[in-house]
Amino acid sequence: MEAVIEQILWASPNVKRFFLRPISDSPLLFAPGQFITLKLPDNDGGTYERSYSIANAPDESGLLELCIVLKTEGKVTPVLWEMKVQQSLEISEALGAMLLPEIWDKELCFVCTGTGVAPFRSMIGSLLANSIHQHPIHLVFGNRTEQDILYREEFEHWAKTFDKFHFYPVLSQQQWEGRKGYVHATYEQLFADGRDAHFYVCGWKAMCAEARQRLKTLGYNRRQYTFEQYDG
Ligand SMILES: Cc1cc2nc3c(=O)[nH]c(=O)nc-3n(C[C@H](O)[C@H](O)[C@H](O)COP(=O)(O)OP(=O)(O)OC[C@H]3O[C@@H](n4cnc5c(N)ncnc54)[C@H](O)[C@@H]3O)c2cc1C
Repeated sequence: MEAVIEQILWASPNVKRFFLRPISDSPLLFAPGQFITLKLPDNDGGTYERSYSIANAPDESGLLELCIVLKTEGKVTPVLWEMKVQQSLEISEALGAMLLPEIWDKELCFVCTGTGVAPFRSMIGSLLANSIHQHPIHLVFGNRTEQDILYREEFEHWAKTFDKFHFYPVLSQQQWEGRKGYVHATYEQLFADGRDAHFYVCGWKAMCAEARQRLKTLGYNRRQYTFEQYDG
């Protein structure tokens, strides 16, 4: 399917938000947490395929928002960085199995770093829009510095507006008033009692591997966590 880039916004010094409008008779349906795969031509007549989480909750606009960090040595993101509004891209249907629970009866803890927050923005946005889910929702979001905290104002606004939503930004490379270090200490502290909850973890390999180990050590089993790894 083809999609046109309708808008591009800077989200941080090295992250852009791309708003895509699929060109199709029927809207591209997706569930919060899913991703699409972009296909871009390589230099040998083939294609590069790269997946990107959908960062917005499904709504009537029909737009898909992607939140993409530039990998300067990468094959695809430098090409995306040069793209302009009105250019088009080849995209897949919505894919992926990191979905919200069918029965919303649990406390949820989302753990991510960097653009790993994209699917969680979609999932948490959907949960907050729907009053059926009454349990606490935690977002533990790790970044290097304050300027890297994507969607910060929105998450802070949600935390003020919804009693059940709790936002924990954590910084690893800047001294500040808030939480310092890595994401792991925060959810370990929050769930030190091992109470029932479901964890969603999204980001790059090293963070996911460590989170898996630490959740096991806390006593959680594989039915209580879902991972989406962005590399390797
Ligand atoms: C399900 C899923 C969802 C995803 N969602 C997102 C998302 O929402 N946002 C997002 O930003 N990413 C997301 N990703 C990651 C994304 O798919 C790409 O992997 C990422 O954008 C890098 O693509 P690239 O072609 O620029 O880099 P690649 O060419 O694939 O390179 C990968 C890495 O290797 C390094 N590298 C490559 N060549 C060299 C070299 N010669 N020297 C040194 N280093 C090198 C690059 O810097 C980069 O870090 C997702 C991945 C998956 C699997």
